[in-house]
Amino acid sequence: MGVRGRLILITTLVLGATVLAALLLSVRAEDWEERRAEAERAEQQASAFATAIVDEMGEVGQREPLRIRHFVAAVERERTAFGLRALFVLDKDGFDVAHAQSPRLDAFLQAALLETGGAVADPPPPAWPRRLATPLFVDGRRYVLVSVLDETALNAQLVERARRLAATNLVLSLVGLLVLLMVLSREVLGPLHRLAEMAEALGRGTLQVSRLFGGARELQQLATALRDASARLGAQKEELEAEVARRTAELAGANTELSSMNTRLQQLALTDSLTGLFNRRALEQALDQEVTRQKRSRRPFSLMMIDVDHFKALNDAHGHAVGDVVLKGIARAVARTLRASDIVARVGGEEFVVLLLDTELPHATTAADKVRLSVGEQSFAGLPKSRVTISIGVASWPRHGDTADGVLAAADKALYAAKAAGRDRVCAAVEDAGSAEPRQPV
Ligand code: GH3
Ligand code: MG
Ligand code: MG
Repeated sequence: MGVRGRLILITTLVLGATVLAALLLSVRAEDWEERRAEAERAEQQASAFATAIVDEMGEVGQREPLRIRHFVAAVERERTAFGLRALFVLDKDGFDVAHAQSPRLDAFLQAALLETGGAVADPPPPAWPRRLATPLFVDGRRYVLVSVLDETALNAQLVERARRLAATNLVLSLVGLLVLLMVLSREVLGPLHRLAEMAEALGRGTLQVSRLFGGARELQQLATALRDASARLGAQKEELEAEVARRTAELAGANTELSSMNTRLQQLALTDSLTGLFNRRALEQALDQEVTRQKRSRRPFSLMMIDVDHFKALNDAHGHAVGDVVLKGIARAVARTLRASDIVARVGGEEFVVLLLDTELPHATTAADKVRLSVGEQSFAGLPKSRVTISIGVASWPRHGDTADGVLAAADKALYAAKAAGRDRVCAAVEDAGSAEPRQPV
């Protein structure tokens, strides 16, 4: 149950209990007061009537019902105003010497008089209305005035008054409750409800907390605290988002750098640092890929194995640095002479291998010779012309081997044949791989 519901329930219960208690107390007090006052009035009146009756009767003792009745008629007119139902004047022996009463009582007494010959021997029954006995002394004789009070009208008045009081109290209480609820609703419940909504929105991550209009001071403080908290959270969130964006940008930059370094590293891992050609590992990878492909398509390929002649002597004579210059020059000459699709690699100190795709042995041999001539024509800084020569062994797939290694071995063998034949020449492998055919230098 919400705060509003609880308040309504509690207030209604408390107010109801208060109204009920006040009503009961007031009714009881009024009841008592009223009865006492009425009894006093009735007693006084009865006494006054009694004196008048006795005076009127003159010689008491003679029963003169007609005279008494005449007087009683006067009493009858007044009696209801005091709640007096009947009056009896009894002599010392209990005889009814005069009375005034309502028709019902009158009938009863008439019957009693007839039965007893005028004396009311029996006292009135206990169920009768309340009675008062007042002693009278007339001419030295003692009489008793019995007044019978009728409380019915009084009771009815009291009940009616109690009802009116209860209704008035109820209406007033309801109006009070309504006013109380309106004030509470405006000052406490409404702002409390809006605060709950704000807190809920804050919990959902909505950081725009609206202003709270109206409401008690404490609720205003609470709303201000909520607004401050949301503002702080908003600022922190923005800072965090900016930081995340900055870090993400940094990370992206680092990633780009890393990926370019990786590419570079891969290139370096497959490149010969001196000549910029592929290295042995790159050649092996290329051989694996290309040979598999060539085999599938059943297209031939050839390999050249190139070795610089007397390179040790060149190094010894001119120094290692000049040797490096020569190696770089040879690399350029080889690459320049061959097709771009051919794969050239430096696989040892002064040894190079060339993979010629889609190339039969005769074409490969011709290309090798072009390379040899190109290197022979190449001039090198610090060296006289035509001092550098190379020997080349050539082999083809599938003529000289089933695998890349087999073809390489055949080319190597052909290279050795070229060296053996006097260097500066191209030597093609032969079918049985046991010998090679050297070609004379041009
Ligand atoms: P041939 O091949 O004609 O039989 O004689 P060669 O002198 O070339 O024979 P060998 O293979 O014995 O010599 C190779 C020489 O190559 C040895 C070394 O001095 C030289 N060499 C190997 N790697 C490098 C290199 O990276 N730079 C230089 N400048 N020289 C190298
Ligand atoms: Mg060598
Ligand atoms: Mg050599």
